Amino acid sequence: MDVTNQTHVEINLKAIQANAITLKKHTGSKLFAVVKADAYGHGVIPVAEALQTIADMFAVATVNEGIELRQAGIQTPILILFSPLPDFAIDIVNYELTTTVDNWTLAEQLNRITIDRNKNTQSTNIKKTKIHINVNTGMNRCGVGYTEADKFIKELKSLTLLEIEGIFTHFATADEEDKSFAYLQLDRISLVYKKTRDIPFKHVANSAASLAIPESHLDAVRPGLSLYGIYPGNDKPITLEPALSWKARVGWIDFIEPGEGVSYGLTYRATNRIRIAGIQVGYGDGYPRALSGKGEVLIGGFRRPILGRVCMDMMVCKLELTDKVTVGDEVVLIGKQENEEIGVDEIADHVNTISYEILTNISKRVKRIYT
Ligand SMILES: *Cc1c(COP(=O)(O)O)cnc(C)c1O
Repeated sequence: MDVTNQTHVEINLKAIQANAITLKKHTGSKLFAVVKADAYGHGVIPVAEALQTIADMFAVATVNEGIELRQAGIQTPILILFSPLPDFAIDIVNYELTTTVDNWTLAEQLNRITIDRNKNTQSTNIKKTKIHINVNTGMNRCGVGYTEADKFIKELKSLTLLEIEGIFTHFATADEEDKSFAYLQLDRISLVYKKTRDIPFKHVANSAASLAIPESHLDAVRPGLSLYGIYPGNDKPITLEPALSWKARVGWIDFIEPGEGVSYGLTYRATNRIRIAGIQVGYGDGYPRALSGKGEVLIGGFRRPILGRVCMDMMVCKLELTDKVTVGDEVVLIGKQENEEIGVDEIADHVNTISYEILTNISKRVKRIYT
């Protein structure tokens, strides 16, 4: 183990590749690999490099995330999933990004800048800017309304240097047991698709729909979470392998006497003589402070509880008197150790959030090591 790290995450790029291939096989569609938010905390450049030959397109949330990939030398098409402010049109054109468009202002600005760019190049073949249209079918956070989408798309055809490459929508509830609203959203987007048959990419499926709604697979799927080996809900028709483990090391071991407290606020009080371990990882690393007094970690192959509050840089766990533990031993926060395993889901459930948030909160201080 790398002794220079008090805490680090290990990312298994082979698992991400295998998950991507499994998802492609399961859906039979093109793969738009969602690598937004630093590839859900896994590190966008190594992940994109690992998926370059498998993904048909990368999808990110912001123009800056797209630029980061281009600057790292990624040549694969990159889709910006959320319609950016018109100020970003220049970067979209310069870095040859494909962008989502849900309003006329951005579309016009993109068209204008694409015209200028073509004027300023020697090449005779005209380069268009590729766009995808986001249709709001009930998520109600962005997109063109599904009843207006086909009119909007017709109007866009007057902007001659834009190429409408895709039309998509996003599910609000595909991860839930009850799929009826997802099917209603599918019906709504189908009305748009009937009037826009010439557009090459119809795509609607996030991870949940890629796994459990076969009718949603269409031309391409847009899984994020499942690429990293995590299931968004209870539907698990295929086997995915979690790619990330989070590790730390035992930094200090001691005994405390009955009546003594542990960590800020002394919220844990020992009722008998106990043995405890200090571990250098905390909420400054993105480990949820809400796990204070209720989380568990793996030490020596056993679950050991967190005592008292999780601090910014440290936390304390209870050891058994018989545990054969020494300073420097591995502590697993997420992942496997011997026969025990703590999944991201378990942590998320514990603190009333979703695995997405746990993963994207792992902070920059935690070194990513790729295996
Ligand atoms: C984040 C996102 C996805 C991927 O969602 P997962 O649940 O991680 O698979 C797909 N499409 C859009 C528009 C998104 O914002």
